[in-house]
Amino acid sequence: MVWSSGVKNAMSIDLEDWFCVYNLSQVIRREDWDKCELRVVRNTTRILDLFQKYNVRATVFVLGWIADNAPELVRQIEQRGHEIAVHGYNHLLITNAKPEEFERDLAEAIESLRRCGITGPLLGFRAPSFTVVEKTMWALPILAKHGIRYDSSVFPVGFHPDYGVPKASLSPFRISDDIVEFPLTCVEYFGKRFPCSGGAYFRLLPYLYTKTCIRKCNNEGRSAVFYLHPWEIDPDQPRMDIPLTKRIRHYYGLNKTERKLERLLQDFQFTTIREVLSL
Ligand SMILES: [Zn+2]
Repeated sequence: MVWSSGVKNAMSIDLEDWFCVYNLSQVIRREDWDKCELRVVRNTTRILDLFQKYNVRATVFVLGWIADNAPELVRQIEQRGHEIAVHGYNHLLITNAKPEEFERDLAEAIESLRRCGITGPLLGFRAPSFTVVEKTMWALPILAKHGIRYDSSVFPVGFHPDYGVPKASLSPFRISDDIVEFPLTCVEYFGKRFPCSGGAYFRLLPYLYTKTCIRKCNNEGRSAVFYLHPWEIDPDQPRMDIPLTKRIRHYYGLNKTERKLERLLQDFQFTTIREVLSL
């Protein structure tokens, strides 16, 4: 049953493979990616089939490296009616980059999408590991210079060690002259912010948590933005030896995520970020 608040939420995928994740960067270096088993095609195809079943269009933030290594998949995503957006080329965290490096990576990402045959406008950007933070706001004019009109990378929380803009608005807002920000969705209870936009929070906590929070958000008249990675529905991916907290964050709940996603698609209405922002 579709929840009938009338509010449309935004669905997004960060298109990368299991070995591109920052959490694993201590054990898998960038130069080792070519040697890793590519699992993104079958995982993404399963997600696309679910989207089709529930008539959902999504925004897919494509890592340029994936566009070069699985171009047919990326073309298929566009052909199936989804919005293609940009997730950088090498999964470079903006917090670890100099402006020139960031711009080079962004330009390479856009080139790779055009090279693989993507024809639609590339208006959206999501930073690897949500690294649009107070000290990386210099990246915004660079994004605008390359045609980006919205960003969805700001996590409006203060408790995470690697990202977050604690006082950022919970609703979409103009983050610079040319860029609209769609912050990752949080709801407030008792003055505290609780993320309910997917990823590890979706895998680690019972589905009821996400459902209750998104419902609250929609009841307040706000659209939520949800995100997922293809490797998050893949319990058979290679297991790496990483510290316990990272292991929990990366591997917990992989076998239940696909079923939870289906429940989410049954309970709420989703479309692309571009449509929610009317861009
Ligand atoms: Zn990513």
